[in-house]
Amino acid sequence: MKADARTVLDAMTRFVGAAHCIVDPVHQQPFVTDYRRIHHGRAVAVVRPGTTQQVSDVVRWCADHRVAIVPQGGNTSLLGGAVPDDSGTSVVLSLARMNRVLCVDAVNDTITGEAGVTLEAARAAAAQHGRLFPLRIGSEGSCQIGGNLSTNAGGTAVLRYGSMRDLVLGVGAVTADGSVYRGLRGLRKDNTGYVVKQLFVGSEGSLGIITAAVLKLYPLPRASAVSLVAVRDPTAALALLGQAKASCSQWLSAFELVSGPAIDLVMHHLPGVVRPLPPRTIGWYSSNWPRVGRRRRWTPAWWRCWSRLSSVVTPPTPRSPPASRRRRPSGTSGSRSQTPRRRSEAAFGATSRCRSRAFRRSSMLRRGPSWPWSRRRA
Ligand SMILES: Cc1cc2nc3c(=O)[nH]c(=O)nc-3n(C[C@H](O)[C@H](O)[C@H](O)COP(=O)(O)OP(=O)(O)OC[C@H]3O[C@@H](n4cnc5c(N)ncnc54)[C@H](O)[C@@H]3O)c2cc1C
Repeated sequence: MKADARTVLDAMTRFVGAAHCIVDPVHQQPFVTDYRRIHHGRAVAVVRPGTTQQVSDVVRWCADHRVAIVPQGGNTSLLGGAVPDDSGTSVVLSLARMNRVLCVDAVNDTITGEAGVTLEAARAAAAQHGRLFPLRIGSEGSCQIGGNLSTNAGGTAVLRYGSMRDLVLGVGAVTADGSVYRGLRGLRKDNTGYVVKQLFVGSEGSLGIITAAVLKLYPLPRASAVSLVAVRDPTAALALLGQAKASCSQWLSAFELVSGPAIDLVMHHLPGVVRPLPPRTIGWYSSNWPRVGRRRRWTPAWWRCWSRLSSVVTPPTPRSPPASRRRRPSGTSGSRSQTPRRRSEAAFGATSRCRSRAFRRSSMLRRGPSWPWSRRRA
């Protein structure tokens, strides 16, 4: 039997308390409008449960009375999945109050948190214990681990660590009939029956509401380096990726292809950002971030890896060639320093802002992966 709005409100207020049941349409706005303000919906109520039991009560009642529920995390997904339609009959169930980090286990390398813990808070809690939770996306200050799991979020470090599907060990959830699924286990070798947790990953709330999760942690890297390379086209970027993977193996954390127009947008909207590479006819940039192990120093292995990568990521071309090079008759083979540049330009049409060893050693490690984006105009 379908319930009317008054009955729904009474029931929701009974379950979560009047203070956590938002009825006023003005106060509902952030919950019924999507991140890009493209999708606008209406809801009979926005409920903010504080415990798994309250989630279960709400879901069971709504299932019995055929009231639609829209689970919502940080509402940062860009396709409108977290906002209701405009019928005004749905209940938005926000997980924002369930935001406690329950435990960080530095021995088992796991973090257990409620679904409403923001990604930023999860990463910070892990970092306090010298651990890395590797998911990193632009919305990390607002999106929640429940939403990350429901959308199987990927992020920048997916090359090395995988997406949320690869980072989850256990899940607690409330299924569509209001039953509580208790799968909060941090066991890595769990061969007992079906892998139910994976059904919830990427299902966007269609199978149930995630209330908590156990996630994998990794050692916190002590240093990282980033290079920004201009490539002629996406094919060249793929060739560069192959080279980078072959050279850096597991150290390569991220590899992103950025279009020239995207860089132009950043330059246009963020004052003080210096154009990372001279404007050329090349339309694409590619950044790759090899992470260096735990020690904050340049190991021989890292140097080997970097110098191999440097045969692809070449030193900047001087504006006018040095006199010694100008005098060299054309067609003769160049010095050792010329060879890598020629090779990479032939292969990738690449140019880059890689600096001298001394500069990298003294400056790049300290500046971290934001270099050279954070460099201000002098
Ligand atoms: C600037 C920016 C950068 C982004 N970069 C990336 C990126 O690199 N990679 C990427 O994958 N995404 C990216 N996103 C998209 C978005 O941030 C992710 O999809 C994120 O995982 C959504 O989390 P959320 O908590 O905001 O979920 P919401 O937007 O609130 O919800 C997303 C979906 O999951 C459901 N849901 C939410 N919480 C739960 C729950 N506890 N249980 C069950 N279902 C639930 C909702 O009903 C909805 O269908 C980006 C978004 C922005 C704004």
